Order: sequence, then structure tokens, then C-alpha cells
Amino acid sequence: MVYKGVLTKMQTEFLDPIQYYLVFESDFIHVNQLLNKTIDIKKVGEQCLSCGLDRPIFRQGFCKTCFFEKPLAGDWIMRPELSMAHLGKEDRDLDYEKKVQLQPHIVYLANSSNVKVGVTRKSQVPTRWIDQGAHEAIEIVEVPNRYLAGITEVALKEHVSDKTNWRNMLKNNIKDEDLLAWRSELKAYIPDEVKTYFIDNMSETHLHFPVEKYPQKPKSLNLNKDLVYTGKLVGIKGQYLIFDDDSVFNVRSNEGLVVEMTPY
Ligand SMILES: [Zn+2]
Repeated sequence: MVYKGVLTKMQTEFLDPIQYYLVFESDFIHVNQLLNKTIDIKKVGEQCLSCGLDRPIFRQGFCKTCFFEKPLAGDWIMRPELSMAHLGKEDRDLDYEKKVQLQPHIVYLANSSNVKVGVTRKSQVPTRWIDQGAHEAIEIVEVPNRYLAGITEVALKEHVSDKTNWRNMLKNNIKDEDLLAWRSELKAYIPDEVKTYFIDNMSETHLHFPVEKYPQKPKSLNLNKDLVYTGKLVGIKGQYLIFDDDSVFNVRSNEGLVVEMTPY
């Protein structure tokens, strides 16, 4: 059986352990069922997730033109504090920006390799934490728009990291942290206009990933260079496929690649 399709980030289901799915146009692959199987992955092309054209992928699954023009690749995506829809100001497409920015957002702490602060739409909890490979996470504030979440993140990252070390996340080089205690400590640094949105009663969410063997020295697969790879799948964590020879494949950062996958 050969599955062919455009890579987009894996869909997930918050079960114990997390369940992963690759969604292609005509195939729906339950990736957990491929564990312990040898898989061929071959790059056969590129297709922009926005315009659908066969153009080189520039960033986030988009060709260069779409990345710089389409509303879904605006700077406020990566830097929520630049959001302007709450002021009625347009970046690239005000209708789109209102739809995405003017909805409940969560500022959270997640621990994937270390404790970090992050922002997500409320509808993306716990998907966002799964995608980051966090084994534990907790909400801090729930705010009505992306801007307020952004300025909270900016204020908190003076006191806590906003980055994950992907190698440590994959090696499972982790320790359990008391995220409730972290939250209480950080509360003082929440901007005044956001303080009323602090969520009082909260407990940690714990996540378990389907990994049979963690890599000792994870090395990133680059299908743009190597075009084809064969290996035995031994785990899935975050948006990474983990193989027996320590190769790891970040599905998310390869969005837009057209691949053929053949499990044996
Ligand atoms: Zn495009």
C-alpha cells in the first residue's frame, strides 16, 4: 500500500496515549498503527498549502508569495502582541483577522524540555500542547482576544522561557515541574489590564506520547536533501516521527511537501 499526499501537521486525539493521524486527500492514516513497522518516505514534489500550486515551500507550508501576502501568514501569528483586530485595524485582511484574533485565547505554561510560556486559541487546547510534545501543561489566563494574550506572553517571558529545546524533548530529557507553583509565582508579572482574567482553579494536564524508544542523539531528516528515507517507526512525540536509527522527522516543518509513504 502506497499512501500519497501533501503533508500537513498530524491531527491528534487526546487519549492515553495520544493518537495521531495523517490526513491525505484520499487516505486517512492512523500513524500509531505504523509503530514498529518499517516505512519508506519519499519526497515527490511540493504544493503550497494556500494557493495549491507546485512551487517551492518557503515557510509554514506556504510558497514565498503566499507567505508574504495571505492573511493566515501575518506577523501576528508568530507574534500575537502585534494583533490589531481589536482596534479595527487591518494587517492583511480585517475580516479574517477579526475571526481569528477576536476569540478566547489562553496563555499557558507547558513543559516539554523546560517550562515555557505560550499562547493559543482556546479551541486549540490541548492540541497545541500535544504539538509541542509537552508532557504537562497548565492554563494561566483566558482572555477575549489575541492581543491581550500576546502582551501577557511578552511580560511573562522576562521571567520564564518561551522556547522548547526539541532535542531534549525528543530524548525525553525531562523533569516534572510543579506548574501550579510556577503559575502562582508568575501571577505578579501579568500586565494590569489582564490581571482580572487569571483563571483561579486550575490543575495540570498530563500527556502521554506513544514512544517505544527515545532517540539518544536525534538527527533531523531532511527530505529536501535526501529525497527518500527508510526506517522503523518507534515513536511519535509532538509533531515528530521517531525512528529506530535516531532519525526524527518533523511533520509540521515539512508541511507542503508531497510525499509517498509505504509501510511494510
Ligand atoms: Zn502559494
